[in-house]
Amino acid sequence: MYLDVVREVEQLVWPRKMRLFTAGPVACFPEVLEAMKFQMFSHRSKEYQELHKDATLRLKKFLEADKATVLLIPSSGTGFMEASVRNAISPRGKVLVTVIGEFGNRYKETVERNGRVPVVLEEELGKAVKPEELDDALKKNPDVEAVTITYNETSTGVLNPLRELAKVAKEHGKLVFVDAVSAMGAADIKVDAWGIDLVFASSQKAFGLPPGLAMAAVSEEVFERARKIPERGLYFDLLEIREFLEKQWSTPTTPPISIIIGLDVMLRIIDRMGGKDAWLKMYAERAETIRRRVLEFGLELFAEPGYYSPTITVVYNPPGIKGPVIYEELRKRGIEIAKGYGKVRDITFRIGHMGYITQEDIEELFRNLKEVLASLGFAKR
Ligand SMILES: *Cc1c(COP(=O)(O)O)cnc(C)c1O
Repeated sequence: MYLDVVREVEQLVWPRKMRLFTAGPVACFPEVLEAMKFQMFSHRSKEYQELHKDATLRLKKFLEADKATVLLIPSSGTGFMEASVRNAISPRGKVLVTVIGEFGNRYKETVERNGRVPVVLEEELGKAVKPEELDDALKKNPDVEAVTITYNETSTGVLNPLRELAKVAKEHGKLVFVDAVSAMGAADIKVDAWGIDLVFASSQKAFGLPPGLAMAAVSEEVFERARKIPERGLYFDLLEIREFLEKQWSTPTTPPISIIIGLDVMLRIIDRMGGKDAWLKMYAERAETIRRRVLEFGLELFAEPGYYSPTITVVYNPPGIKGPVIYEELRKRGIEIAKGYGKVRDITFRIGHMGYITQEDIEELFRNLKEVLASLGFAKR
């Protein structure tokens, strides 16, 4: 056995232990890494069908998506962003895109590059979209077919009030598309009750899995619209993806089997930990602890109060200190945070809190951050 080769590659990518406070990929649970060792098998086998069915039904329950269809596909989350536009918006149709940071901009670009027309409702960075503003925008633009919402904006650390926003969009009779890439698994989503038409996420964020799997819940209305759109493309044709699910609990193209195994393991662990509510509470408490510790240092949060993210804390750089310097200094000490992203890249740094993070990891982060800030001349005022 060439296990030494495995060690060589391990040294290449993982030269020493790192505690991860990244924006994704994030650290996986040890149980998930253990399950990544399973031998492969055909995605047309009976065993695969059992696995796909189990993971799908568990995710369906977690998302409270009784009526909506839950899809697991080989892609990163952005694939479903493209799928939402291609399958449910008429050619040259309009979409109201709410933008509160970089990932809202990505939705805008996805709409444009697929030949549809974005109408943008943009907020000052650090702020959430308010239901009244969405209501106004929809009154001014009655011809849009859908509204897009970034549930958790990973670049600013803001959690949008999804339930209230979806309610407004539904009152106007619009489709609701939600980028929940950094929210699903950490912030509550009740797909049917909140009237969400398409909500998607990636495996490498709040469920703490390796990257490569995208998951979504899709309403019947989206499939109905898709039937009327002739050119849906091949890879992200939602009707075909659903057909394979219904006929054989599988996907048209080869799925990332290992990661679906990981998802099934994670959803079972969540059950053992007390179910969805207990798991979401764990995330809320972890985020609360991290924000409190940041504030105790005399640092300031970027997000507006009341809309703090459960998965990432965005912090203003201390006066005279650059975020990337903090990032590099922490890395030297075996801790990886995330640099500022998008337009706020130069004025913030980010502490991600998704995936497998222990109390000890958090203690180590703040012990080291304190030393790093002191060495850079930052004194609490
Ligand atoms: C990470 C992220 C994405 C991109 O996800 P991919 O899996 O890389 O496609 C999109 N939206 C948000 C809010 C994210 O945090």
